[in-house]
Amino acid sequence: MRLTASAGASSLRPQVAAQVAAKQAMRRAALRDCGQRCVYCAARLDHRTATLDHVVPLARGGAHDPGNLVTACGPCNRLKCDMLPFDFFARHPWAGSNFVRYARSVHRALKRGARRAVSLAFARADLMAA
Ligand SMILES: [Zn+2]
Repeated sequence: MRLTASAGASSLRPQVAAQVAAKQAMRRAALRDCGQRCVYCAARLDHRTATLDHVVPLARGGAHDPGNLVTACGPCNRLKCDMLPFDFFARHPWAGSNFVRYARSVHRALKRGARRAVSLAFARADLMAA
């Protein structure tokens, strides 16, 4: 795609403008579905602070599909990076707990996996404390 640095939204070609609009609509829908929060740390987000996160990263075979999209704050998105969700939740069970609570519209298999990762992580913590 060839765009000059000075091209504003109004001078984008119709096709590109449609892509931008679709992306904004997806972010708005994700923000609504996630209760206007970062699904990992539960921070309140709005359309300026929200970033879209692919729960299973695109680089790891995840789909660009509403069932794999959540809103996250910038710091959580960078922390998660290209980690698979269950590796991330095993390392940061607090993020998994919030995910189970706030990521209401993701695929059920993702929520099931998150619940399992969180309970395993807490069970391990109990063993280490005993
Ligand atoms: Zn966050």
